Amino acid sequence: MTLSSNSIRSLLEIKDPNIKIDDIFYAFIHHTKVRIIKACLITHQNRCPLCGFAALVHNGHYTPTITYTSDNASHPVFIRLAKQRLKCKNCGHTIMAKTQLVNKYCNISNRTKSKIIMNLQDDRTQKCIAIDNNVSPSTVGRLMDENRALYPTFPDRLPKHLAFDEISRCPSSITFYLIDGSNHHRIIKILPNRFKSSIIRYFECVDLSARKRVETVTMDLNSYYQDIVYQLFPNAKIVIDRFHIIAMMTRAFNQYRSQLMKHYQYQSHEYKLLKFSWRLYLKNDRDLSNAQEYYDRHIHQKVTAGERISLGLELDTKLNNDYVVMHDVMNYLMLRNKDQLAEALFNYRYEQLSKPMAGVIRTLRKNLEIVLNAAENEQSNGPLEVLTA
Ligand SMILES: [Zn+2]
Repeated sequence: MTLSSNSIRSLLEIKDPNIKIDDIFYAFIHHTKVRIIKACLITHQNRCPLCGFAALVHNGHYTPTITYTSDNASHPVFIRLAKQRLKCKNCGHTIMAKTQLVNKYCNISNRTKSKIIMNLQDDRTQKCIAIDNNVSPSTVGRLMDENRALYPTFPDRLPKHLAFDEISRCPSSITFYLIDGSNHHRIIKILPNRFKSSIIRYFECVDLSARKRVETVTMDLNSYYQDIVYQLFPNAKIVIDRFHIIAMMTRAFNQYRSQLMKHYQYQSHEYKLLKFSWRLYLKNDRDLSNAQEYYDRHIHQKVTAGERISLGLELDTKLNNDYVVMHDVMNYLMLRNKDQLAEALFNYRYEQLSKPMAGVIRTLRKNLEIVLNAAENEQSNGPLEVLTA
């Protein structure tokens, strides 16, 4: 059974109905066995595009050998396509049949080009892609240049305010986010991991003059990001993210509250004071009402929100001190009061605070300069934290 031209076209996924397949055979080109498809491209044009006369006559063929995609790289496929040429008897203008399969005067099919562009998105060398598609490595390079917009590029300008953040998608993979730290919070780049080497490699491709223009970099208290900033952004000031500072303190407060709670008998008054209405402890103390009473069903008494907090804090001095320092820091960060913030961080000795809170305060004191920057600058990762939570 011999296959019809239509069946071969459909096998090769050639959509142009003007291409007629004549033959398929094997040949040797440069000692390599290749499959050659002999085909003809006809045109139905009968009027000259230049003079408009219906005076076109057949004028031979132009037969390029076109590289086509092959499922087996060791047996390349070529289409020997005889493109019909027409000549106008009236003005002498010549035209050639056109097809979507290949561009004019090009010997690489558009299908092969698309495949190369797809391959370029994988982590493979240009040479390897070239061998797979039976083209030269320089063709792959040229295609990459022509389609530069499709590939990740390095910005020649960076915003004045940058922000670094990381998001854990699964335990073993943490992606690194580079964000425009100004009001837009636009994501500039996502790197697949947060390794120092990957981040440095990315930024080293960005022009030094662009990096020198960066004024602030907002981040979490992650020491190795700080090293990267000093190394790559000579004029930038590091700002610790306000949301991160507040999150560290509330976490420490909750940790000690929960440790303390376990010292009391389950169902006891003290246990209930610490266990329930825990959100009130984190609420801004200025928002707590001291006038409006409500009935607290856990402790069976009428209290105001302020009184409810005081009852819990009276149980332990360290818990009370933790509460005071946490709210002082939150308030001064909000009010952008640098001096008061510094004072609040040195208000208590470590032994006057709980162990988790003393740990947080120690970290904040150690990074005092960049923590105080948080009270001075507007930049924050907050909106992104919400976006990626
Ligand atoms: Zn003409």
